Amino acid sequence: MDTANLQQHVLTLHEALEKAVWEEKIEAMFQQQMQTWPLARDHYQQFQQVKKRTLNFEDFRIDLQYNPARERSTCADLQPKTIEKRPCFLCLSNLPAEQKGFIILKKYLLLINPYPIFDRHLTISALQHQVQNIQGRIIDMLTLAKDLQAYTIFYNGPRCGASAPDHFHFQAVNKHVMPIDTEFEYLKKFKSKLLVNEDEIEIFQFKHYLRKTIVFESEYREPIDFFFTKVYQQLPVDETSNEPMMNLLASYQQGKYRLTLFLRNKQRPSCFYREEPDRIMVSPASVEMGGLVVVPRETDYHKITKDDLQEIYNETSLNLNINDILNI
Ligand SMILES: [Zn+2]
Repeated sequence: MDTANLQQHVLTLHEALEKAVWEEKIEAMFQQQMQTWPLARDHYQQFQQVKKRTLNFEDFRIDLQYNPARERSTCADLQPKTIEKRPCFLCLSNLPAEQKGFIILKKYLLLINPYPIFDRHLTISALQHQVQNIQGRIIDMLTLAKDLQAYTIFYNGPRCGASAPDHFHFQAVNKHVMPIDTEFEYLKKFKSKLLVNEDEIEIFQFKHYLRKTIVFESEYREPIDFFFTKVYQQLPVDETSNEPMMNLLASYQQGKYRLTLFLRNKQRPSCFYREEPDRIMVSPASVEMGGLVVVPRETDYHKITKDDLQEIYNETSLNLNINDILNI
């Protein structure tokens, strides 16, 4: 490990905060970064200007966020050749001098994301340069969800929205920014199909939700890890990235861990590649799967309709019979 570089990016807290809960430490990190890192401060200030509008469906809503600063990531060239050539922006040796955060679970660095789509947007990156692949990391993801209970942790697969497919990272956002957090209990009660109901775990799927979900809920991390791995092993593997295409959300509430898996089959919808004026620049990742669609162009923000959203989700979601893969 790059210990010398690591020390430069670890934030030292005031003694009184050393024993504080993560939420307080994170708040202190935000304040420190806003004071000392002009680029991040500018971006968080610009973020206050983003516009939001809501499209209501019968049992859920989709929020659109117009955020011009995100064009860079929405349109990022993620071809392996391009990725190989650029310096990895999550490697310790390439972090800006001002960027500082905390070591968490002894193997990740918890940082603020300098290109925010939320007013509290965190990146949790592996200390070492290892590919974006979720195998063996579900327990970590759920542990983070419990440690950071005010947040929803998310994982973008290497071809499902990750802008650094070569360096493992999670991200986190305040709970209830993504509509799914708020809709969850209603959907579970009235609009879900139970797939597995055992002593220690419930697995279900939302119906008529535009996206293809498999939700795992348990008081314990291990059964979620166990059943997730079973599902993972049966999903079609994407050859470019060597793993099934997916987005994941993890959170912890009322004594239970929750993992929501979105099955994907395409990186971008066809409207992304259409000629103008029919083009819509949307590149779905976990946040979009969670019901918050980020658009970097104002024209798209105004013109997107419910039919467009339906098409975008339909094209980028994997259409398969979940009973076949949950043959447990
Ligand atoms: Zn790296």
